[in-house]
Amino acid sequence: MRIACVGGGPAGLYFAILMKRRDATSEVTVYERNPPKRTQGWGVVYWNDLVESLQAADSTSAAAICANSVKWTDQGLHLRGRWTLHSGRGGYGIGRHRLLELLTARAIELGVRVVYDTDICDVRQVCHADLVVAADGSGSALRRNAADRFSTSISTGRNKYIWLGSTKVLDTFTFALVRTPAGWIWFHGYAHDGETSTCVVECPPETWSGLGFDRCDARQAVDMLEPLFADVLEDHPLLLGESSWLNFRTVRNEHWHDGNLVLMGDAAHTTHFTIGSGTKLALQDAIALSESLGEHHDLETALSAYGQGRREALRQPQSEARCSAAWFENIERYVGLGDIQLFLLLRERRSPLLARIPPLLYYRLHMLAEKVPALRRLRRWIGPPARAVYSRWRY
Ligand SMILES: Cc1cc2nc3c(=O)[nH]c(=O)nc-3n(C[C@H](O)[C@H](O)[C@H](O)COP(=O)(O)OP(=O)(O)OC[C@H]3O[C@@H](n4cnc5c(N)ncnc54)[C@H](O)[C@@H]3O)c2cc1C
Repeated sequence: MRIACVGGGPAGLYFAILMKRRDATSEVTVYERNPPKRTQGWGVVYWNDLVESLQAADSTSAAAICANSVKWTDQGLHLRGRWTLHSGRGGYGIGRHRLLELLTARAIELGVRVVYDTDICDVRQVCHADLVVAADGSGSALRRNAADRFSTSISTGRNKYIWLGSTKVLDTFTFALVRTPAGWIWFHGYAHDGETSTCVVECPPETWSGLGFDRCDARQAVDMLEPLFADVLEDHPLLLGESSWLNFRTVRNEHWHDGNLVLMGDAAHTTHFTIGSGTKLALQDAIALSESLGEHHDLETALSAYGQGRREALRQPQSEARCSAAWFENIERYVGLGDIQLFLLLRERRSPLLARIPPLLYYRLHMLAEKVPALRRLRRWIGPPARAVYSRWRY
């Protein structure tokens, strides 16, 4: 089989690895428009569920990814100069550069051809392939060309965000909220290697224009953001990389393949960055498609089964992502609460119930549910399973 993966992000590279493992005689090529070692963004987080999927799919790359990740256990809210901490099971952080480097090395070791500086905007450029995988990210040109056949819908989030780094190595997964004269601004931060952290800065459009970010470039914006977060970052600089201010775009597709062209990762779906799942879902897409191709000999059947299975699997994370994005878009609803209440509701932001009842009532019900098993069952029935374990609070 001749396979063309368009896009050398996590989805394209991982799918190439899995297909080469499945059948060493297949010809697998990854086409990436950027030169080697160039990518957008800083680090990403993931949890044990992904580690388990990766270990089952390819233990070699799983071991390399784990060895190059940092573990965090606590989550912290930094607000009004105070920390509220919660210890839980935690997760992992890894730099995107490092992740792509590891996946590329593994792909090449298995015999995948990785071609850089090659922009594939039209399937006719890869017409020799039996299967073309559009793993070209949320702005996918291959998807755009056939948007009506995929029934693509894209909605744009209200808040502004910029994906930054910092030389401050955060030892907790950190939410830092700052009130400015123009409104609230915050970052979601975590270490992704021994020297650097990721800081995704987010704010409502009113804060963004009120602070003048609409009238300056990203470099100047970083200079203005540093003093706002100097306290929590202990005067460490913020790092820009190739980032710019954006509004998050949620991509959905009703159909995931058209002939031998199939969507994967962000090209097929995006989930808001505040649930930190896009990379995991992209890698799981790759696993699902390679398994479906192994199970079904007919390409059409394999692609249909893959699309259907993944659309079902995505229902829960997409619902959680919608609720989480809305939580941050309606932050004024929560910021008047006490620190512990606010932090608990921040950690409960995936629940569809939270937006529907007064925050304080939700908080009280939650605390009561911790003590009364019948209420815990009711809460599970109303909202998504409560994944958080509230083991310890401290100042
Ligand atoms: C601020 C932010 C924070 C995030 N944090 C997390 C997190 O903590 N955890 C997590 O799991 N996910 C996170 N994500 C999501 C994650 O980054 C994406 O879901 C993931 O990168 C998707 O992988 P992908 O391979 O589908 O697409 P991408 O990573 O976007 O890769 C697509 C590749 O295709 C290439 N390409 C594009 N067009 C062409 C073309 N025409 N020809 C050839 N190549 C092309 C691009 O250069 C790119 O290399 C975050 C996203 C954002 C925006």
